[in-house]
Amino acid sequence: MAYTICEPCVDTKDKACVDVCPVDCIYELEPQERSLYIHPDECIDCNACVPECPVDAIFPNDEVPEKWKSYIEANAQAFHRDSATREAELAKLKPKT
Ligand code: SF4
Ligand code: SF4
Repeated sequence: MAYTICEPCVDTKDKACVDVCPVDCIYELEPQERSLYIHPDECIDCNACVPECPVDAIFPNDEVPEKWKSYIEANAQAFHRDSATREAELAKLKPKT
Protein backbone atom coordinates (compact mmCIF):
# COMPACT_ATOMS: atom_id res chain seq x y z
CA MET A 1 0.00 0.00 0.00
CA ALA A 2 2.66 2.52 1.10
CA TYR A 3 2.61 5.66 3.15
CA THR A 4 2.51 9.23 1.87
CA ILE A 5 4.04 12.47 3.09
CA CYS A 6 1.46 15.25 2.97
CA GLU A 7 1.36 19.02 3.09
CA PRO A 8 2.64 19.69 6.64
CA CYS A 9 6.10 18.50 5.58
CA VAL A 10 6.33 21.13 2.85
CA ASP A 11 8.75 23.84 4.04
CA THR A 12 9.20 21.95 7.35
CA LYS A 13 11.29 18.97 6.41
CA ASP A 14 13.07 18.37 9.72
CA LYS A 15 13.84 14.78 8.65
CA ALA A 16 13.01 13.08 11.97
CA CYS A 17 11.27 10.38 9.94
CA VAL A 18 14.31 9.47 7.87
CA ASP A 19 16.30 8.03 10.76
CA VAL A 20 13.61 5.57 11.85
CA CYS A 21 12.67 4.08 8.49
CA PRO A 22 14.03 0.52 8.52
CA VAL A 23 14.26 0.32 4.73
CA ASP A 24 15.52 3.87 4.02
CA CYS A 25 12.65 4.64 1.69
CA ILE A 26 12.11 8.27 2.78
CA TYR A 27 14.07 10.46 0.42
CA GLU A 28 15.31 14.01 0.36
CA LEU A 29 15.71 13.97 -3.41
CA GLU A 30 17.46 17.36 -3.52
CA PRO A 31 18.48 19.50 -0.53
CA GLN A 32 16.78 22.64 -1.86
CA GLU A 33 13.41 20.97 -2.40
CA ARG A 34 10.47 21.71 -0.13
CA SER A 35 9.35 18.20 0.82
CA LEU A 36 10.57 14.68 1.38
CA TYR A 37 9.03 11.73 -0.44
CA ILE A 38 8.34 8.10 0.41
CA HIS A 39 9.10 5.62 -2.33
CA PRO A 40 5.83 3.71 -2.77
CA ASP A 41 7.47 0.48 -3.96
CA GLU A 42 10.00 0.38 -1.13
CA CYS A 43 7.80 1.27 1.85
CA ILE A 44 6.93 -1.81 3.91
CA ASP A 45 4.03 -0.15 5.78
CA CYS A 46 5.71 -0.49 9.17
CA ASN A 47 4.28 2.79 10.57
CA ALA A 48 7.55 3.70 12.34
CA CYS A 49 7.75 7.12 10.71
CA VAL A 50 4.28 8.30 11.69
CA PRO A 51 4.83 9.04 15.41
CA GLU A 52 8.22 10.64 14.65
CA CYS A 53 6.81 13.40 12.47
CA PRO A 54 6.35 16.53 14.62
CA VAL A 55 3.79 17.99 12.22
CA ASP A 56 1.77 14.82 11.50
CA ALA A 57 2.53 14.82 7.80
CA ILE A 58 2.66 11.06 7.21
CA PHE A 59 -0.33 8.77 6.64
CA PRO A 60 -1.01 5.32 5.27
CA ASN A 61 -2.44 5.91 1.80
CA ASP A 62 -5.89 4.72 2.81
CA GLU A 63 -5.97 7.23 5.68
CA VAL A 64 -4.72 10.33 3.86
CA PRO A 65 -7.16 13.17 4.62
CA GLU A 66 -9.36 14.12 1.68
CA LYS A 67 -7.77 17.57 1.31
CA TRP A 68 -4.34 15.98 0.83
CA LYS A 69 -5.23 13.08 -1.49
CA SER A 70 -3.20 14.66 -4.32
CA TYR A 71 -0.04 14.04 -2.31
CA ILE A 72 -0.39 10.28 -2.88
CA GLU A 73 0.20 10.74 -6.59
CA ALA A 74 2.78 13.48 -5.97
CA ASN A 75 4.82 11.07 -3.82
CA ALA A 76 4.62 8.31 -6.41
CA GLN A 77 5.42 10.58 -9.35
CA ALA A 78 8.26 12.31 -7.53
CA PHE A 79 10.55 9.44 -8.39
CA HIS A 80 9.86 9.83 -12.11
CA ARG A 81 10.32 13.59 -12.32
CA ASP A 82 13.28 15.92 -12.36
CA SER A 83 13.76 18.39 -9.54
CA ALA A 84 12.27 21.40 -11.35
CA THR A 85 9.15 19.45 -12.30
CA ARG A 86 8.73 18.08 -8.78
CA GLU A 87 8.94 21.56 -7.31
CA ALA A 88 6.53 22.98 -9.89
CA GLU A 89 4.00 20.24 -9.17
CA LEU A 90 4.38 20.78 -5.44
CA ALA A 91 3.82 24.52 -5.86
CA LYS A 92 0.43 23.71 -7.39
CA LEU A 93 -0.52 21.85 -4.21
CA LYS A 94 1.00 24.37 -1.83
CA PRO A 95 2.08 27.70 -3.38
CA LYS A 96 5.34 29.15 -2.18
CA THR A 97 4.86 31.95 0.34
S1 SF4 B 1 9.35 14.09 10.07
FE1 SF4 B 1 7.52 14.95 9.01
S2 SF4 B 1 8.06 17.08 8.56
FE2 SF4 B 1 9.95 15.98 9.06
S3 SF4 B 1 10.74 15.35 7.08
FE3 SF4 B 1 9.54 13.65 7.87
S4 SF4 B 1 7.50 13.96 7.00
FE4 SF4 B 1 8.60 15.86 6.77
S1 SF4 C 1 5.89 3.19 6.97
FE1 SF4 C 1 7.87 2.30 7.56
S2 SF4 C 1 8.78 1.68 5.64
FE2 SF4 C 1 7.15 3.11 5.12
S3 SF4 C 1 8.13 5.09 5.05
FE3 SF4 C 1 7.36 4.86 7.12
S4 SF4 C 1 9.10 4.02 8.27
FE4 SF4 C 1 9.55 3.72 6.09
